[in-house]
Amino acid sequence: MLARKSAPQAPNPNFVQCKGCKKTLFLADFEANLWVCPNCGHHHRLTWQQRVEVTFDIGSFEQLDLDLYSGDPLEFPEYEEKYAQAQAKLDQKDSVVSGLGRIDNKLISTAIADFHFMGGSMGSVAGEKIARAMERGVEKNCPVVIFCASGGARMQEGLLSLMQMAKTTAAVDACRRNGIPYIAVFTDPTMAGVLASYASIADVIIAEPKALVGFAGARVSAQAGVSKIPGDFQTAEFVFRSGMLDRIVERSEMKSTLSQLCGLLGAHLKGIN
Ligand SMILES: [Zn+2]
Repeated sequence: MLARKSAPQAPNPNFVQCKGCKKTLFLADFEANLWVCPNCGHHHRLTWQQRVEVTFDIGSFEQLDLDLYSGDPLEFPEYEEKYAQAQAKLDQKDSVVSGLGRIDNKLISTAIADFHFMGGSMGSVAGEKIARAMERGVEKNCPVVIFCASGGARMQEGLLSLMQMAKTTAAVDACRRNGIPYIAVFTDPTMAGVLASYASIADVIIAEPKALVGFAGARVSAQAGVSKIPGDFQTAEFVFRSGMLDRIVERSEMKSTLSQLCGLLGAHLKGIN
């Protein structure tokens, strides 16, 4: 007689497994700890809605630029289908959400990248939203905070995607010329064309612990002949030691850190209050 296989168990919705230490956690505890593992401290990736929840004053975030979506300008194979699937699954139009919010009642212009939407890749819509968030900081006379989470440029938009590096960099310059502080927060991962454009030229750069930060990935670097790759290569900690980051901040301290930075750097701005 053949042994009967037990029926597959549906995952218990009250529990979640840590992606770092693999320990099973109570969902309620995990959420109360801002999606950081209480056991190993692994900072899990957030959706843009969760990022809003842990960062901005309750009910203060207003999403803007809602009419922007990509038109598949290069007619790249399967792009339209993948884009539509991501939109339907995640209830957002593209990988970046932009708007205005308040941190300890200080007005902030922001853009939040969500890695769950096509790897957070920067196409023409993401680039436009980031540029608009910076221009809105100039217009409203308030600080700009951008949350980065991206594998890089969106290959389905080819050169149009790479042009976003120039556009967002020019927008950073507009902030600088107008005395608008710009703070970048590197979350897991901040890579390639995003790191090589607006992300790495902020006035203040902070990162979440262990976030992947780099240009090419470790495997590509090894294939390119980089012989001695340290164990924590391309983590926030490695990049901090190399002098590219100002500070690594735990998620539980992120809101108070941003509040302090925006208050200090934006004290001269009329629009902050
Ligand atoms: Zn863990």
